[in-house]
Amino acid sequence: MIKKTTLLCVSLFTVVSYSFGQQKISQISRQYKKPKNIILMVGDGMGATQIYAGLTVSKKPLNLEKLQYIGFSKTNSTRFVTDSGAGATAFATGYKTNNGAIGVDSNGKAVPTILEIAEKHGLSTGLVATTDITDATPASFTAHQPSRKLQQEIAAEFLNSGVDVFIGAGEQHFTTRKDGVDLIAKLKKKGYQVSTNIDEITSFTTGKVAGFLTERPLAERGDQLSRTALSTINILKQNKKGFFLMVEGSKIDDGGHDNQIGVVIEEMIDFDNTIGKVLEFAEKDGETLVIITGDHETGGLTLTSGDINTGRVEGKFTTKGHTGVMIPVFAYGPGAETFMGIYHNNTIFNKMMAAFGFK
Ligand code: MG
Ligand code: ZN
Repeated sequence: MIKKTTLLCVSLFTVVSYSFGQQKISQISRQYKKPKNIILMVGDGMGATQIYAGLTVSKKPLNLEKLQYIGFSKTNSTRFVTDSGAGATAFATGYKTNNGAIGVDSNGKAVPTILEIAEKHGLSTGLVATTDITDATPASFTAHQPSRKLQQEIAAEFLNSGVDVFIGAGEQHFTTRKDGVDLIAKLKKKGYQVSTNIDEITSFTTGKVAGFLTERPLAERGDQLSRTALSTINILKQNKKGFFLMVEGSKIDDGGHDNQIGVVIEEMIDFDNTIGKVLEFAEKDGETLVIITGDHETGGLTLTSGDINTGRVEGKFTTKGHTGVMIPVFAYGPGAETFMGIYHNNTIFNKMMAAFGFK
């Protein structure tokens, strides 16, 4: 008797889970319309611990907590532990490469980036960061260099990348150069509106923009990241064919390298505030896929004590460098379902290509 009941339960469960599975699959194929726009948001050095530290301290729930489609990426480069150059090159090109490489494969061959491919298809493109725009993460979308240290060469490549709007620090790589070339003058000749003032940068409503700001800690730069991300979206969204934008919360990584949990948390929450603004746009727009992830974890941070009710957290760092742990990937909008599961970081490129319908 008992046996029969158990069997019945098992078969019922099987039927239920089977039909749920079927329903899920048919829903996905029915709902998977192609996004017009993709916004890739990269928290440099943002792993699950950095997110959980921010979540604990934040007075309100994180915007990330609203998201349903979540996966994990395996972040290894040709080494077990990646740097930001190889990490961003994986997202940008689909190739796992050597640490320090920018937009080239492991043999040093230049490979096309999602930003360049989007440009070829007539989409608008943008890059926004809180560190030098020539630094490893943004550079991997516009440049092809064997080493991230080649900042002046990377800056020169911005001229031919076709990127419509870029905002970050690092003006010196465009102005004070060993080849003596004034890249700012060249940018202007190419039609870029160039400014070093955030009010002016965010007031441009159309055309090409090169915005240069000073790299500063959060206390001094305030809501710069969300302001510049939103003003960039407002320009890029005017393209009827769509746009690709990469937004980087660059300085979560700095807190990790310095083993400063306070910096990690404030930079993580600032990045999450920007995520909130971007999601507000995507929700209204309905045709934008937003992907939020990190390139790697920094600091080997773990949380040893805390209080989720009062917002207190204590952590320990195990390294001043990066680590090789899996990194969460969050997605929202058309095509977000394809970011569930565990996959390599370079397949994020393939998923974005498929979402755009690019070959
Ligand atoms: Mg970076
Ligand atoms: Zn780093």
